[in-house]
Amino acid sequence: MSRETVTHTGPDVARVFAPTEQFQAQANADASHYEHADRDSEHFWATQAEKLDWTRPWDEVLDWSNPPNARWFTGGKLNVAYNCLDRHVLAGHGDQVALHWVGEPGDTRDITYSQLTDEVCRAANALSSLGLVAGDRVVIQLPMIPEAVVSMLACARLGLVHSVVFGGFSPAALRARVDDAAARVVITSDGQYRRGAGAPMKANVDEALMGAETVEKVIVVRRVGEPVAMQEGRDAWWHDLVSSQSPEHEPESFDSEHPLFILYTSGTTGKPKGILHTSGGYLTQVAYTHQAVFDLKPDTDVYWCGADVGWITGHSYIVYGPLANRATQVIYEGTPNTPHEGRHFEIIEKYGVTIYYIAPTLIRTFMKWGEHIPRGYNLESVRLLGSVGEPINPEAWMWYHTHIGRSTTPIVDTWWQTETGAIMISPLPGVTATKPGSAHQALPGISVRVVDDHGDAVESGGGGYLVIDKPWPAMSRGIWGEPDRAQEVYWDRFKAQGFYFAGDGAKYDEHGDIWLLGRVDDVMNISGHRISTVEVESALVSHPMVAEAAVVGAADATTGQAIVAFVILRDRNDDDTLDNNDVAKVLMAHVVAEIGPIARPKRLLIVPELPKTRSGKIMRRLLRDVAEGRDIGDVATLADTSAMRTIATSMAGAP
Ligand code: ATP
Ligand code: MG
Repeated sequence: MSRETVTHTGPDVARVFAPTEQFQAQANADASHYEHADRDSEHFWATQAEKLDWTRPWDEVLDWSNPPNARWFTGGKLNVAYNCLDRHVLAGHGDQVALHWVGEPGDTRDITYSQLTDEVCRAANALSSLGLVAGDRVVIQLPMIPEAVVSMLACARLGLVHSVVFGGFSPAALRARVDDAAARVVITSDGQYRRGAGAPMKANVDEALMGAETVEKVIVVRRVGEPVAMQEGRDAWWHDLVSSQSPEHEPESFDSEHPLFILYTSGTTGKPKGILHTSGGYLTQVAYTHQAVFDLKPDTDVYWCGADVGWITGHSYIVYGPLANRATQVIYEGTPNTPHEGRHFEIIEKYGVTIYYIAPTLIRTFMKWGEHIPRGYNLESVRLLGSVGEPINPEAWMWYHTHIGRSTTPIVDTWWQTETGAIMISPLPGVTATKPGSAHQALPGISVRVVDDHGDAVESGGGGYLVIDKPWPAMSRGIWGEPDRAQEVYWDRFKAQGFYFAGDGAKYDEHGDIWLLGRVDDVMNISGHRISTVEVESALVSHPMVAEAAVVGAADATTGQAIVAFVILRDRNDDDTLDNNDVAKVLMAHVVAEIGPIARPKRLLIVPELPKTRSGKIMRRLLRDVAEGRDIGDVATLADTSAMRTIATSMAGAP
């Protein structure tokens, strides 16, 4: 087999990549950020907030008199959209490109800050003309087109609360979100491009809205030219309603705690939660983290975050953080293999992308497709890489570093959640010496711990629960419409200590750096040994035959739980002679060599796909159902239901 050899794997504190001198010399961040925040974290956050434009200064940085309900920058007033748009234009940057948009079929648009501001003002005037007032809710279901960004900012400008719903969601999921928010307006498009073909979207919206009483108006963007039924009185075309409006609009200021958006979690562990975020603290933290973690230089960088605006990463690191910082960014509408597997690299080359931020699932997909694909493009512009969404397996980190980062660029592994609103744990490029697989430490102004069942800090090397022990500016202000649920879900677990419980497992290494171990619900218990799914998966991914792996603990009469592994292989060569049974044996032995006999999978299945949420996370709860012979439960958040059928069928004949 002619594959690259991988010499070592697994959590490895010896493999350290120090920042280069060149990077360090020009980095936005330095150790003084930590020192400042350690001296006085409220002062640190106030300093960051001062970089925004406020129309009324705050009275108090943080009001924590009624935990867990934080209020940041109380009494302060600002307009979030003004901070993302007008102030850059007024400072003379109107001609700078804000968005290099790339459509899936190959059409493109370059939109400057002036043009984006005008378009947002038109959309704001259009929404006002419908009688919407601050506090009203607007649901947005759009593909990755500029109108998605425009719609969100138009809402922000008017103090309307947006709830963006990922384009792939079903009518039922959309309806639940419309009802939950009691939305007055829905913004959508005729259709969306998916893998080279136009698919309907408005038709889904019509189905979703049957009998929905709160919705008065549906605004439809023409994207693919699908024929659509327009309901008289309710539906209006974007190009009729918005384009005729004036590009002048006076922004009103809103309270720092004015609601900005509702957004649902990915639904990896259960029913998605509708998370509420507010204005001043949120914008402060997304702007600071975007500037420090991605080292953004607004005059020279071309930034690209590959997320969809339907997820928190798209909200914080496509819309609010980058635009507050006057970034020039790429947004891409389509799937990474349309029309070919080099699409992302082609875009990086064409626009000279310097900062590239994607999820481990895509990195592992690139690994599966093979490194010859990125090798066919000039990726020399790239100077910083980021990862988000799941723990990044050390070998996936190394692949990213080697094949996309030319073995030189820093990688920031950013841990955060819909609930945290902004990045919480990450290396700071130019400051942190990185280790593949470790997210390192809490950012300046953020305080986290890894604790045991009693809330006491664990020893280095030991696994525990990740908690956040101090309020942070972008923290969620609760679950929409369920005032008591946030307390229950996040705060009751460590009530006595007042910790926020993230639901993730983590451990410290000998340097005190943090390694994420996956969901607490996913931790396996094999003959009394607690084993993390991520560690076994990372051992599997470290084998050159493997692109991706998911492991679960399935009930077992003798050991309590037994490890069942599901593995996707990298593209195999013609001279591959091993059959699946042989491959399974080789991989089981590899896990034993990497971790020890206790981690040996009892069963190992080679599969073509893994069940993932629409945001790309592995849904282990479904694999556990299959492994334990149960019916597959709630699959509403699953991206591809056929993947589960294939796995369930092959489970029967597996070794
Ligand atoms: P739900 O809460 O509905 O089960 P979800 O937790 O997947 O869904 P998100 O808010 O999109 O919803 O994802 C946050 C989670 O993603 C984190 O709690 C963590 O488990 C995982 N995650 C994100 N970034 C990282 C990272 N860099 N390393 C490890 N895990 C990460
Ligand atoms: Mg979660």
